[in-house]
Amino acid sequence: MPLGADNSLTPSEDSEMSHVIAVVSGKGGVGKSTVTALLAVELAKRGYKVGILDADLTGASIPYLFGLQGLLKVTEKGLLEPMKTAQFGIKVVSIALVMENPEMAVIWRGPLLSKAIQQFWTDVDWGELDYLLVDMPPGTSDVPLTVMQMLPLDGVVVVTSPQDMARSVVKKAYHMANQLQVPVLGLVENMSYVTCPHCGERFSIFGQKPLTEAAQEFNVQVCVELPVDPQLAELTDQGNIEQITVATSSSLKELVDALETL
Ligand code: ADP
Repeated sequence: MPLGADNSLTPSEDSEMSHVIAVVSGKGGVGKSTVTALLAVELAKRGYKVGILDADLTGASIPYLFGLQGLLKVTEKGLLEPMKTAQFGIKVVSIALVMENPEMAVIWRGPLLSKAIQQFWTDVDWGELDYLLVDMPPGTSDVPLTVMQMLPLDGVVVVTSPQDMARSVVKKAYHMANQLQVPVLGLVENMSYVTCPHCGERFSIFGQKPLTEAAQEFNVQVCVELPVDPQLAELTDQGNIEQITVATSSSLKELVDALETL
């Protein structure tokens, strides 16, 4: 496995990434993959070349969000060729595009999971990318930490939901990022509120949260809230996330602006 000067893995010789950003969460189901996909779409809309490495092997959902099916091709050099999304040509690599039965990964132990993710980095012809977003396995256990140590990250985006123990998730992510000497670039509280379809009023159905407090305490630069969005749920179910309209994606604007300044 090729190692770079700082002991992190180097990508295949045909790959060149300008920025690598990990998207993490405290647990599954908070919308980490959805946010990863939305960030990728927003960056692509701004004209950047974007890729997604789906490192959430036991809950691989990125291909479904984009309606991608089938298996990855292998290049003449024996590297995996990412699959491109229909509208914005976002390059995706996921276990669900490599194995006929990706569910098998559920029984894999840590080292095997780490090895597979390493290969998604070293044995893929990513080409030239402005941004590679890594959809991390949920939690702060060994596997995500190993993955983060292997990749030359620019920083971490943390996704929480209001029911999540936001403060403790941010704290853990902060310590994780600190250990790796990379910044927490942003905090996304997903499903934070609902908007009344009649009067447009916002309701924080889960009450007021200590999110901003946590962000301040841990010096997170950007903190955004995403609404519960029935259209988003429908589009993701249909594999059409690229068709997201401005309403939800504009909530991510401040974070995408921040990623642009990296
Ligand atoms: P995770 O990656 O954290 O496990 P997912 O991104 O797969 O979570 O999201 C879990 C489910 O919640 C999906 O069905 C997704 O469509 C839905 N979902 C996520 N974010 C929102 C949102 N803001 N509004 C409505 N549904 C959402």
